[in-house]
Amino acid sequence: MKKIRLVLVGNGMAGVKTIEEILKISKEKFEITIIGEEPHPNYNRILLSKVLQGDTTVEDITINDWSWYEENGIRLITNEKVEHICNADQTVTTNAGTVIPYDELILATGSKPFILPIPGVDKEGVTTFRDIKDTDEMLKVSKTYKKAAVIGGGLLGLEAARGLLNLGMQVTVIHLGKSLMDRQLDNTAAQLLKEELEKQGMRFLLETNTTEILGGERVERLRFSDGEELECDLVVMAVGIRPNVELAQSTELWVNRGIIVSDYLETSIPHIYAVGECVEHNHITYGLVAPLFEQAKILAKKICNVETTPYEGSVTFTQLKVSGVEVFSAGEFIEGDDKKALKVLDEQDGIYKKLVFRNNQLVGAVLFGDSQEGNRLFSLIKKQADISDTAKVSILQPIGGDSDENLVASMEADELVCGCNGVSKGAIVQAIHEQGCTTVDQIKGCTSAGRSCGGCKSMVSDLLELTLGDSFDASAQKETMCSCTTLSRDEVVEAIREKGLMHTREVMNVLNWKTSDGCSKCRPALNYYLGMVYPTEYEDENESRYVNERLHANIQKDGSFGVVPRMYGGVTSPDQLRKIADVAEKYNAKLLKVTGGQRIDIFGIEKEDLPKVWEELDMPSGYAYGKTLRTVKTCVGESFCRFGTQDSISLGIALEKRLERVGTPHKFKMGVSACPRNCAESGIKDFGIVGVDGAWEMYVGGNGGTHLRSADLLGKVSTAEEVIEYASAYFQYYRETGIYMERTSKWLERIGFENIKVVIEDPKQRRELNERLNVALTVHDEPWKKIINSPKLRNELFEKVEVH
Ligand SMILES: Cc1cc2nc3c(=O)[nH]c(=O)nc-3n(C[C@H](O)[C@H](O)[C@H](O)COP(=O)(O)OP(=O)(O)OC[C@H]3O[C@@H](n4cnc5c(N)ncnc54)[C@H](O)[C@@H]3O)c2cc1C
Ligand code: SF4
Repeated sequence: MKKIRLVLVGNGMAGVKTIEEILKISKEKFEITIIGEEPHPNYNRILLSKVLQGDTTVEDITINDWSWYEENGIRLITNEKVEHICNADQTVTTNAGTVIPYDELILATGSKPFILPIPGVDKEGVTTFRDIKDTDEMLKVSKTYKKAAVIGGGLLGLEAARGLLNLGMQVTVIHLGKSLMDRQLDNTAAQLLKEELEKQGMRFLLETNTTEILGGERVERLRFSDGEELECDLVVMAVGIRPNVELAQSTELWVNRGIIVSDYLETSIPHIYAVGECVEHNHITYGLVAPLFEQAKILAKKICNVETTPYEGSVTFTQLKVSGVEVFSAGEFIEGDDKKALKVLDEQDGIYKKLVFRNNQLVGAVLFGDSQEGNRLFSLIKKQADISDTAKVSILQPIGGDSDENLVASMEADELVCGCNGVSKGAIVQAIHEQGCTTVDQIKGCTSAGRSCGGCKSMVSDLLELTLGDSFDASAQKETMCSCTTLSRDEVVEAIREKGLMHTREVMNVLNWKTSDGCSKCRPALNYYLGMVYPTEYEDENESRYVNERLHANIQKDGSFGVVPRMYGGVTSPDQLRKIADVAEKYNAKLLKVTGGQRIDIFGIEKEDLPKVWEELDMPSGYAYGKTLRTVKTCVGESFCRFGTQDSISLGIALEKRLERVGTPHKFKMGVSACPRNCAESGIKDFGIVGVDGAWEMYVGGNGGTHLRSADLLGKVSTAEEVIEYASAYFQYYRETGIYMERTSKWLERIGFENIKVVIEDPKQRRELNERLNVALTVHDEPWKKIINSPKLRNELFEKVEVH
């Protein structure tokens, strides 16, 4: 049967959720194409606040990575913006000229941040807070500048402000209204919130109207309507969002504030649907995921021709994601003529609770300082429950007492635990009983609870404890490898060793994986662990690797590749430079860039040219894409520097030649400086070396990335040979005990620096680690040469195909 061509514009949260729901109903019915303007696979936008606050990383907020699209046969076009819909031909056209025909089209273009129309908004240092690019910009600016102004005291502004405080900036929040979060909180809650955030170091200018952004090219000051000014070198605009209707407006679709849709998410033109923040339903637009996910489920059924209830609008709730502050708000939270409030204020403990009733129904709630009842109240509001038989004040009491376990015990089966994804207590208990879930991670995999803002994870854990009783093991709240298994990394590796498992499939079968093929998280991890346990016997599964590692080059935003040849210790020669220049010219490289790791990245190479480029360069791969040793950065040292007393270059080259190619759980970077001036930045490397008065100091666990961490001093040795011995042992110990995708900075904190030091300082263990590493090092070929010399691999991997 011919497949229906389904095209989704917008690779964001609501659109991709719709596709996930469609795939749950039918994997076969559609030929799906997704076009996204951002260069990333689908990620959890909500958690950008957590990225900025340093609680997670951009890498960890991906919801569906590149391989998810591949596995589901979805054609993904990133970095292209759909600019035109032709509903006569049923095609969409992107800004790159790509034309995609559709039978059914979904628009999920989200929102755009509102930018105040004041002079100076285009200055450097003015940003919004909507996507990864904005978040990266703030992270970058905070490294150089110190004074931030956030315009907007709503949820987004306050989460941005908290993140900037965490990044060491002085933060002032400027808000036009009289009180913070005025769309979600009443005056009492807003005042308590302000006091709490002031204690955390935030400054506020309320009832303040920003009229101009002043400075040269870069922002220097804000001017307000009363003539006052505020010095700042970063301005974050968080003054609201507007549905992104740009594309819809260019067609004859009915558009008001958002794209107007029916109760089944149909637009005014047949075969075109819309979902998410870009939509207006019954005169209402939404800016939170819970209603959008409700829409997504209905739209999926509609498109699959499965009977569905109509979308009738949503009650929403808000929870602030700022550590140390509990704020919850839902429904109609301001009392009025037909609405009466019940309020409790505990000034001593800083707790405020307010319920708003219309006749015998709870219609709104605000909680400050203790929000654990939030979901229960939200369920009552959503259900429009008649509470005439209940004393209103009792609704404020935690049912069954104060303990968390009693709270979940007292909940009805249909009460919501995860508000974002609409997952009830009953659904979670069912997953525990019927699917054998024993951890929070597995519940997330089976039910989606905790998959969005993550605020319900402690409740899920309580529910597991309650349901599993004695068999609940708090330590089993270990991180499982992924939702395909109930086992942790250590248990899987132990089973591989004990049971002699030799292939990813065998591991999955013997260890009762829940999925037949695993997922994009466990497959590369198993491939790594098997290679680590059986370095000489295990045959690497290229197809289990991420795309960059499969192709031995870094894929770029535009689908072309970056090629980085190795330059041992950052040293090159006229001959190498000539070859790089020739290749760059011949293959139309778009950019030649000296990297932080002291080598040259040749950007903009087409996939099918990669083997020819490697052949003509005739240099080894620099593994700039690999989970392995990346570079050993060196300073010039004694050869040229008047401060240098040691030969840092030779040591760097020797280390790089010894450790290159063998796999590690994540990338591994090294640096060798010949004196404490530390020109090779040894203090922020996975393993950094510093020359001091006839000896070498060795530093470990440093990281110069998002989570800046200065390295710890492991010890001091006299000779370069000893450095190599220690570094190799450390490297192998990380290989053997690290969790796949865990950098050494995190690994060191998980295992404990002192514990690692004891192992590496023990001569016997050091020798054994070196011996095991030597075995692993015997089997690694130069990957570019291997492909150049294999017509089969060249053909399989690099024949000209469209980049998805
Ligand atoms: C920092 C932050 C914190 C948040 N916190 C919460 C929270 O705690 N709870 C909550 O419920 N919600 C929160 N939200 C809101 C939530 O993220 C959004 O409601 C949700 O992402 C909207 O989903 P969407 O798919 O409609 O839009 P988006 O996720 O924005 O996706 C739209 C996508 O479409 C792309 N696009 C637009 N036009 C085109 C085009 N013409 N061609 C191709 N691609 C296009 C955009 O680039 C974008 O990637 C937060 C948002 C932010 C920014
Ligand atoms: S680290 Fe010391 S020896 Fe090396 S280049 Fe810098 S100043 Fe010179």
